Amino acid sequence: MTKISKAELAALSEETRLVAGGRDPAAFHGFVNTPVHRGSTILASSVAELRNHARPYTYARRGTPTSVGLEEAIIALDPCDGAVLCPSGLSAVTTALLSILSAGDHILVTDSAYGPTRHACDSVLSRLGIETTYYDPLIGAGIGDLFRPQTRAVYAEAPGSLSFEMQDLPAIAAQAHRRNAPVIVDNTWATPIFFPAHERGADLVVHAGTKYIGGHSDIMFGIVTAKGAAWPRLKAFHGDMGLCAGPDETFLAARGLRTLAVRLRHHEASALEVARWLAARPEVLRVLHPGLESDPGHAVWKRDFKGSSGLFSIVLRPSDEAAISRFLDGLKLFGLGYSWGGFESLAIPFDCAPQRTVTSWAPGGAGVRLHIGLEAVGDLVADLDAGLARYRGV
Ligand SMILES: *Cc1c(COP(=O)(O)O)cnc(C)c1O
Repeated sequence: MTKISKAELAALSEETRLVAGGRDPAAFHGFVNTPVHRGSTILASSVAELRNHARPYTYARRGTPTSVGLEEAIIALDPCDGAVLCPSGLSAVTTALLSILSAGDHILVTDSAYGPTRHACDSVLSRLGIETTYYDPLIGAGIGDLFRPQTRAVYAEAPGSLSFEMQDLPAIAAQAHRRNAPVIVDNTWATPIFFPAHERGADLVVHAGTKYIGGHSDIMFGIVTAKGAAWPRLKAFHGDMGLCAGPDETFLAARGLRTLAVRLRHHEASALEVARWLAARPEVLRVLHPGLESDPGHAVWKRDFKGSSGLFSIVLRPSDEAAISRFLDGLKLFGLGYSWGGFESLAIPFDCAPQRTVTSWAPGGAGVRLHIGLEAVGDLVADLDAGLARYRGV
């Protein structure tokens, strides 16, 4: 077997890049996967070698073969200038934000942003003298009106991970770039498989690797990728903060990544089937899933995205107060818990209203978010069917 060059890799299809990227078995005695490098000190053979900084690895915080392998694999998926690894998805979010913002700056953030991201803007950014203005996720090119001379970034996330509004990301990016403001996109829902965010205009892309990239509900992990002028700033900030991800987590993220495309396509097909079944149920007022033709975000999703993942929400017709608990407590296959992106199905009740400041959230009933795992669809539907009967009170 002959090592594949980065240029050759770039010319191959996405599935092949996912499998072949960031691996070099010949460098590790033929082992298929880059091994876990557990360490801190990396010894030099001489004073001269120590001083000339030409070694590929100098100190484990600054990179190991395990971390560099995963960075290369991610870069190969959505070409950009570099990637950094973080100990959680939220730390990837704050790393991306703080790498480009300074005191006195202003940022535009989607009103549908992941809750803890919003909290970080309202607490950390605010304390550092960085002002946040939230924008309606449906604003599109209208975002141009919200820019101020101090606006230094736009933070987008599509679709919202509870409410599933789509955003016209190319239109938003065009407005931002006209004013030299970089665009950060949280791409956790679609992953680079279904949305090549850099190709669509993002300068910085955040992934909660905890979700689909890890794929097995067994790690906390984050990745930020960057292109253009954002890359040296991201790299420097990440280094200055002393951030790095653990070697075992990095290995597991790389292992998850290899099967991302097959898992996602399975999540997609099953979620669409369950979503269509739910849409026809009398207990369900609305299904919030941009992959459904009836969804208000479908046209934008279809134009910009290559697929949909396993996460969507439903709005239930009003019932008695205990109905949600009867529905969810009795489910056998859907776990009741935060996070998603693993092999297993999950459900949580939610209400976006307390978090919104420029849009209102009043969908007409209780919200339930579902993650459709890799179980057989028939079994999941039977579990939900029994749950909806309990919701009605039968
Ligand atoms: C989960 C999540 C995060 C944060 O990831 P953690 O690994 O849980 O810190 C960020 N953005 C989105 C959209 C998420 O769903």
